[in-house]
Amino acid sequence: MNRESFERVAIIGGSMAGLFAAINLQALGFNVTVFERSKESLANRGAGIATHDQLYNALRSAGVTPTQEMGVKSKGRVLIGREGAITEKQNMRQIMSSWGLIYRFLRAQIADSDYLTEHELLEVNVINKEKLALRFKNGSSIEADWLIGADGMNSTVRQIVEPLSQPEYAGYFAWRGLINEELIDQDLRKQLTNVITFGLAPAGHWLGYLVAGENDAIEEGRRWYNWGWYRHATASSLRNHLTDRDGRYFENGIPHHLIRQSLITDMQQEASLYLAPQIQKLINLTKHPFLQGMFDVSCEKLIHGRIILIGDAAFTARPHVGLGVSKAAEDASTLAKALYSKKRKDALKRWENERKRYGQATIQWGRDLGSHIKPIGYALEADNKAEHYSSPEVLISQNASHDPSKFLAEYL
Ligand SMILES: Cc1cc2nc3c(=O)[nH]c(=O)nc-3n(C[C@H](O)[C@H](O)[C@H](O)COP(=O)(O)OP(=O)(O)OC[C@H]3O[C@@H](n4cnc5c(N)ncnc54)[C@H](O)[C@@H]3O)c2cc1C
Repeated sequence: MNRESFERVAIIGGSMAGLFAAINLQALGFNVTVFERSKESLANRGAGIATHDQLYNALRSAGVTPTQEMGVKSKGRVLIGREGAITEKQNMRQIMSSWGLIYRFLRAQIADSDYLTEHELLEVNVINKEKLALRFKNGSSIEADWLIGADGMNSTVRQIVEPLSQPEYAGYFAWRGLINEELIDQDLRKQLTNVITFGLAPAGHWLGYLVAGENDAIEEGRRWYNWGWYRHATASSLRNHLTDRDGRYFENGIPHHLIRQSLITDMQQEASLYLAPQIQKLINLTKHPFLQGMFDVSCEKLIHGRIILIGDAAFTARPHVGLGVSKAAEDASTLAKALYSKKRKDALKRWENERKRYGQATIQWGRDLGSHIKPIGYALEADNKAEHYSSPEVLISQNASHDPSKFLAEYL
């Protein structure tokens, strides 16, 4: 038997990074188990994912053959001004996929016996140089030779190994929505099909596009329209938005049904001041807008003995870069190769250096892309960077681009 089959790898987090790691490590013969804290399937998280070659390559290396069915085709991008006319246009062919669709493809590659839900990691103890003991909230505990922390932005694993590396609030959040396409009138639907639509308001931009609907349907009439509106907000305003009418504060995200109606009404009123009538219509059609704070996460080290961080647990960049899933995939596939290497120690060192550099580059690019999201009244024209990233041409070409590697190259 080879070395890998004796080694037990515990992966914490069964989302994108965890699944990519499990698939790649199992393919190389490691004995892998994924531990996910959620009870229900993660497929319903519902978010649009912009695809590009990097993501397709990552999927192929995980044994998923990408097809046209990966999402909804878009031919280009438009910016619509306050009065409703197109003020900037670009051709950019891209398939807009969805989080759930990609998740389901990946999840299908892992046997249920190797993917344990309702396993929230609480504690890790180092038994010796080669063995770890893990304890879960449900009372179970296991031993493992390696632990991979793929548990996202608020990673428990990162808090254990690097408690000082905390998410840093970006100074804005995103209102988000998903609308059943059927609810949108034919005229507006025609304008929205085949394009990613942008709007530019003071204090943050808006973007929206069609994605696969329920059961991954991509036929006309069964898709969803996915939108996000970035809004500048102080930390106390974010806290206010994450507090329900009973005064309960949801630090890690408020369930959509608990968001106060007055905040939604304020948001709709702001939209009527700053955004095109078509965009206002979409916002008003959204039954349950939800919101999400924007944070940057960096860490000092990815490897802490036999504990390794990947995906958003290691570096979380703002969603403008559209690289979270492919970064998670690349972290995972290159880590699997390093662990499999005959010269493992050197390979892991190289892996850590390369992935840190890449993670830091995505964070810096994300910061730049968000640099124009400032309070209402801020003079963007007096701030070179903010002015550059809010210019129509840059805004619509760089956000969730079909070729992120071209822009990221500047930061590497
Ligand atoms: C608005 C928005 C738009 C985005 N758009 C794009 C895009 O277009 N393209 C793109 O590539 N990326 C996009 N992203 C980013 C992408 O969704 C993330 O980068 C990606 O999901 C990260 O995967 P992950 O597995 O590292 O972390 P996560 O998806 O956060 O998963 C972490 C998992 O760990 C589990 N977990 C947490 N703690 C524990 C614990 N203690 N024990 C057990 N399990 C635990 C959680 O339940 C969760 O399932 C977007 C993100 C946002 C917010």
